[in-house]
Amino acid sequence: MSTCPLCNSHAFQVVELGKYHHPDTPAYQLCKQCGLVQHRQVLSPAAMAAFYEGDYVDEYIETEYTQAKIYVPYLEHLENEGWLAAGDRVLDVGCAKGDFLRLLKDRGYDCMGVEPSHAMVEHARKKGLNVLCDSLESLSDEQKFDCIFLNHVLEHFVDPLNALLKVKDLLVTDGTILICVPTFAAAQPASPFKFIHPYVFGETSLKNLAIHAGCVIKKIQCIGSNIHAVLQIGNNLEHEGIACDSASEFEKIYSFITRREQMLDAICDKIAKWKQDTKVVIYGAGALSNFLLKETCLAAYNIVGIVDSDEKKHGKKFWKDLSILPPSYFHNLDYDLVVIASYVFAEEIVNTLRQLGVKEEQILTINEFATQNQPCSGR
Ligand SMILES: [Zn+2]
Repeated sequence: MSTCPLCNSHAFQVVELGKYHHPDTPAYQLCKQCGLVQHRQVLSPAAMAAFYEGDYVDEYIETEYTQAKIYVPYLEHLENEGWLAAGDRVLDVGCAKGDFLRLLKDRGYDCMGVEPSHAMVEHARKKGLNVLCDSLESLSDEQKFDCIFLNHVLEHFVDPLNALLKVKDLLVTDGTILICVPTFAAAQPASPFKFIHPYVFGETSLKNLAIHAGCVIKKIQCIGSNIHAVLQIGNNLEHEGIACDSASEFEKIYSFITRREQMLDAICDKIAKWKQDTKVVIYGAGALSNFLLKETCLAAYNIVGIVDSDEKKHGKKFWKDLSILPPSYFHNLDYDLVVIASYVFAEEIVNTLRQLGVKEEQILTINEFATQNQPCSGR
C-alpha cells in the first residue's frame, strides 16, 4: 500500500518477519504516523474469496467445545461489567461457523450473524442460527443493534475503517462495539502476521482506528496475544489521532518475533532429540497441532494417532490418513510419547492422560515453552 488506509500517510517502514512464518505470508510495513501494520501489497478480492471458500473452512477445525472454554468467561466478564445485558439485540460480524453466535444464543440473546463465506454459513445454519450470507456492507442501516461483536474479524477487512464506520451505523446511539484482535504481544506458535490478515493492530493503531471512526474507547486491554476493546459512539478530543512512536512500535513487534522464534527453536530442539523411530501420539487436533506438523520436524516422526476430547471432531481426517480418535481409544495405541498440542486444555489433558495410565516421562506439553506475556498498558 502506498497510502495508509487509516491516516493517508505515505511514510512506511518495512517489517522483517524472520523465520517461522508461512511462505505465503506477504511482506508487512508499519505506518509511521498511525502505527497500523499492513500488507505492503493489497490482496486481490479474488485471492481473498478463493482463500475463504477453499481450505480455510476445513482448517478452521475448532468447534464450540473450544470456543466455550475461551468465550464463556469473556461473555460473563462483559455481562458483569455491564457492556452486555439481557434482552440486548446482538450482531456477530464475521461469525464463521457460528460457534460464538451459538454461545450468545444459548445465553438468551436475540442474535444474528453476518458472514460472507458460503461454506462457513452452511455450517452455521445447520446449528439453527440466524446468519446472513453476505458482506457487512449489505446489512440495512434500518436495523439497529445494542451490541456488535468483531471477534478476530477486523484484521481481515480490506478497509477496517470503512468496516467500523458501517458497524457504527448499525448501532443504537448508546450501543457497544466489542472488538478482539490478535496482536504482537504474548509469544505463542500462532502469529498474527499471515496471508489472510491484511492488518495487524497494536494498541496505538486500534486507538487511532477508533478515533478516525468517531468512536470513544471505553476500555482497552491486552490479554495474552489479543487486544480487547470496548467502543461506543462519540467524539474524541484527539480527533486527528494520537501520535505513533514508530521506534517503540518496532521494538514491540521485534520483541514478539524474537520471543516467538526462541520458543519455536526450543520446541524444535526438544523434538530433534527424539530417536528417529519414536512413536508419537498427538493429543489435540487444532491450530497448534496443525502448526507443529507443518512447521516443525514433528511430522518426520512416526505419528501413530491423533486424539482429541471433542466428540465433534472424532472420525474426521486430520493428518495424512489419520482420523481423530477419542481418548477411550488410547489403550489400543502403541506409542512412546504423547505430545499435548493444546494451550487451552493442556491441564485437563494432563489429568486425562494420568487417569489413562500414561507415564509422566511420556508426556510432552508445549506450554512449558511459552514465554512471559508482554505486559500491555491499560487505558
Ligand atoms: Zn497510517
